[in-house]
Amino acid sequence: MTHAFMSQQNVADINKGHSHCPFIPVFGAPSVIFERGQGTQLWDVSGKRYLDFLSGIAVVSLGHANPVIADAISAQASTLLHVSNFFANTTATKAAVELSALMEEAGAGEGQVFFCNSGAEANEAALKLARKFGGRGRHVMVSALGSFHGRTFGALALTGQPSKHEAFQPMLDGFRYCEYGDIASLERLLDAQVAAVFLEPIQGEGGVIPADVEYLRSVQKLCRERGILLVIDEVQTGFCRTGKWFGFEHSGIAPDAVTFAKGMGNGMPVGALWARKDVASVMQPGDHGSTYSGTALATSAVRAVISEMKRLDAAQLARTRGAQLTAGLQKFSQVDHVRGSGLLLGAQLISGVETKDIVPALLDKGLIVNGVNATTLRFAPPLTVSEDEIQEALSILGEVLS
Ligand SMILES: *Cc1c(COP(=O)(O)O)cnc(C)c1O
Repeated sequence: MTHAFMSQQNVADINKGHSHCPFIPVFGAPSVIFERGQGTQLWDVSGKRYLDFLSGIAVVSLGHANPVIADAISAQASTLLHVSNFFANTTATKAAVELSALMEEAGAGEGQVFFCNSGAEANEAALKLARKFGGRGRHVMVSALGSFHGRTFGALALTGQPSKHEAFQPMLDGFRYCEYGDIASLERLLDAQVAAVFLEPIQGEGGVIPADVEYLRSVQKLCRERGILLVIDEVQTGFCRTGKWFGFEHSGIAPDAVTFAKGMGNGMPVGALWARKDVASVMQPGDHGSTYSGTALATSAVRAVISEMKRLDAAQLARTRGAQLTAGLQKFSQVDHVRGSGLLLGAQLISGVETKDIVPALLDKGLIVNGVNATTLRFAPPLTVSEDEIQEALSILGEVLS
C-alpha cells in the first residue's frame, strides 16, 4: 500500500475520507475544513459561510477571532510565554486570583487554583486531590452514568459510559457509577471507601441533561454528612454558558472542588482545578504538576475572557439569547421539548426525526449544530451571538425540518 497521498495531498482532499487524511482516525472523517472565523461566523476553504451554533463545543464563548482575546494573547506572546514552575509568572498569578474571586462571589468560599491544559487534565488533578484527601483505603470515586469527564485514563474511568471503556479494559480500580438525578442510587454506593463524588451540573456530552436543584442540594448534604468531597465538573457549563458564571450556582451549592476548561480560554487550550483552601492543602509540593501548568500565554487568555465576560455581562447574554433560542425551537412541531440552561440547550426531537439526517442537512445550509445523540440537537453558540443570527439559525432549521 502506498502512502503517497501524505506528501501529495491537497488540503481540500482530506474530506474524501480517512485514507486521505493525515490525522489518526480517532475522530469521524472531517466533512468540512475551516479556515477563518469572526464572531458566530466561520468560513471554509471554499469561502462558504457558516453560523457556528456549537462554538467548538462550548469553547469559543466570546466568538471566533475575538479582538480582545487576540490582543491579549498577542501582547503576551511578545512579552513572556513560559517560565518553569520553579517560579511563578505575573499573568498566571493574576488569573488564579481572579478565578478564585469569581468562585468566592459564587459562594464556594476561599480557594486555590491549579492550571492545566484541558478538561481531562483538570479532572485528573481532581482525582489525585480526592485520592490524597481520602487517604489509603478510601480511594473510591463515584460519578454518574451518562457522564463525561475526558479521555485520559483517570478521566475515562470517571466517565460513566461503558461503551467508551470497552476497547480499553481493564479500567482503573475504584470507580462506581450512580444513576444521574437519583439520590437513592448515589446513597447505595456510598461507604467508607468513597473519597469523592463527581458530577456535572448539566450532562453536556450525555445529551444536555440538567440535574435538578433539589438533587444537587441533596448530594451536597449527603457528602457533607459523610465527609466525602463533592467535585463539580464545570468544564462545559462554566464561564457563563448556562446563564450564571458557574452551573452549580443555579442550585446554590458550595462544591469542595471544581474543574474548568472549554469556555475559560475562548479556544486557547487551558483548564483548571479549583479547590477550597482546606481541601487544597492536602496537596504537597511534588504531588502533582505539569510543565505547562499556568503558562503566561494560556492564562493571558483566561484573564481576557474573565474581564470581557464581566464587561459584557456574558451570563445575562446567555440568559437573554438562550430564552430567544428556546422559544424559537419550541415552535417547531418536530421538537418535543428543549432542555438545558442559558446557551447550553438540547432540542429533543419527536420520534421518527433523527439527528443523523438533520445535522448534515443543516451543515449543508451553513448551520453548525451537534447531534449529541440520535434524537437530541445540541446548541451552544457563542454567548455573543446576535438576535439576528439566532433568527437566521431558526429559519435554516425551519427549512430543514419541514
Ligand atoms: C469536554 C469535557 C471534558 C473533557 O475536556 P477536554 O478538554 O476535552 O479534555 C470533561 N468534562 C466535561 C463535562 C466536558 O464537557
